[in-house]
Amino acid sequence: METTIKTNRRPARCQLDPSKVYENSKPEQSGQSFNIWYSKWTGGETNGRAAISHAKHCCNVKRDSGYTKADRYTEEGQINRTNYFCLYFARGYCSNGKNCEYLHRIPTELDFFSPTVDCFGRERFNDYRDDMSGIGSFSRVNKTLYVGKISNMKDIEVRLQKSFAEFGEIAHINTQVKSNVAFITYKLESQAQFAKEAMHCQSINPDDNTEVLNIRWAHEDPNMNSKKRKHEDQNELSMDAAKKILMHLKKEQENKKQKIVSKSISNNDNDNDNDNDKNDYNDPKKQEKMIFELYKKMKANDEIRRLVSGYSTSDDES
Ligand SMILES: [Zn+2]
Repeated sequence: METTIKTNRRPARCQLDPSKVYENSKPEQSGQSFNIWYSKWTGGETNGRAAISHAKHCCNVKRDSGYTKADRYTEEGQINRTNYFCLYFARGYCSNGKNCEYLHRIPTELDFFSPTVDCFGRERFNDYRDDMSGIGSFSRVNKTLYVGKISNMKDIEVRLQKSFAEFGEIAHINTQVKSNVAFITYKLESQAQFAKEAMHCQSINPDDNTEVLNIRWAHEDPNMNSKKRKHEDQNELSMDAAKKILMHLKKEQENKKQKIVSKSISNNDNDNDNDNDKNDYNDPKKQEKMIFELYKKMKANDEIRRLVSGYSTSDDES
């Protein structure tokens, strides 16, 4: 299944009237000072974590996403290393619409950031918080969310799929009916980051407005099959990522009229002149072979692992 959403050639929708953004987005006071970016109070006795109430807004990706000022710098199908996603958009209350400096869409395989920041550009830490809430850690790739405080476990997998798949492709869902919790693993870490913000304090049960989901990072999945599954997911995604990277390289080559691609992925026995290489892109068999060569090359360099993890390969560009 394709996770990449087509870039909407329409402006991003204003999710909230600008005059209401401050009063509506601010949670009940539980500290001394309010941090707008993290939407929480700090400095009080409870350190801003008290009284979890239902989110007032939610992100509707289909309805709300569109181009913003951040899309000025990227073309469709291009790798993005510099533009971050709008945290307010994910939470459903960005009032800037098309004038926002951040992206109003969900992350895809072509969005790579440094491991030290999340897809919103927030700095990550070496360790998780004790309760696994917050931005998360750069010490390991974590694509799995813990979903707690589910009020009703009937048809839970279907309902979870429906709500969470809006923010990315789900690799698998693990439910623990007795304890009313579930674990949702995305194919991309960036999508897990996005979904964590988008689904926190939301509900998946439309008949129960007392349900307030608690979304945190999951510890290592203890499930026996998960390791095998992780391996399978990664292989599948690696091929997918390789194809996309090749498409990107092809486009880049066409645009800049350079021969870099054909040199880096050409076969040892293929020492023809460069004009022939150019035509290779139109031959499906040769294209497949090139993808395979690229895949092998990238795998050897351990590049794939980093790309699949959603990480940038060069620090100087981040
Ligand atoms: Zn925004």
